[in-house]
Amino acid sequence: MTRKIVAGNWKMNLDYSEAKVLLKELMAKKDEFNAEVELIICPPAPYLSAFAEVLKDQEWIKLGSQNNFFLENGAYTGEISPTQLKSLGVKYGIVGHSERRNNFNEDYSMLSKKVRALLKVGIIPIFCCGEQLQVRNSNVYKEFIMKQINDSLFKLKPEEIEKIIIAYEPIWAIGTGKTATSEQAQEIHHLIRTRIASQYDEKVAGNVGILYGGSCNAENAQELFRQQDIDGGLIGGASIDAESFLTIANAFE
Ligand code: PEP
Repeated sequence: MTRKIVAGNWKMNLDYSEAKVLLKELMAKKDEFNAEVELIICPPAPYLSAFAEVLKDQEWIKLGSQNNFFLENGAYTGEISPTQLKSLGVKYGIVGHSERRNNFNEDYSMLSKKVRALLKVGIIPIFCCGEQLQVRNSNVYKEFIMKQINDSLFKLKPEEIEKIIIAYEPIWAIGTGKTATSEQAQEIHHLIRTRIASQYDEKVAGNVGILYGGSCNAENAQELFRQQDIDGGLIGGASIDAESFLTIANAFE
């Protein structure tokens, strides 16, 4: 394990009042969170500005975006630029979540541009990858996952890629309650780290945070985080409950 990271992806959940209540609940538990863990919450974009105000000067938890455009400004109605996110104090940005790949046709070339755009302004990308069930069952899953990483990330310079967080999220485990076993997750995390080491070097591979995502919850986080190459989790459903998020964040041994 190189880093300890727990990120909450709130997705398009909670209205503004509910989201404020959750933030308040998390803040009330501030002293109970393991201070060694990089804690991140990614609320819906319209709430980022107000959340940034509340969390100003609070280093214990950082804000992340769920999506960003790859250009800095201009006539792109509805899009949000990395520069705008940066100006709010956003420190991390999810890129390439399977829900965006599937619902919005985001392909490797767009994702690669989004990653670069975030890095350019100093926001750390949380790059998601992962296979569908039929790919998992076809036995080409390792190459499928490595192609996602190779095509979008392996042209980055060593000093760029080592800042990145990669989230391995098997699609068959996202929101399904069906978690990958710790062995299945470790196999992929180890593969990712080994390939980064051969593409770059061991030091770079050691610096990249690799998170597991897919029905990770208060019950299974400890077993997953115990694995050598699992540096933490990208948490969906269980992150919108303050007590579960706390238990997951404190699950590192
Ligand atoms: C996610 O969507 O990133 C995720 C991991 O969701 P869940 O934890 O709900 O499976």
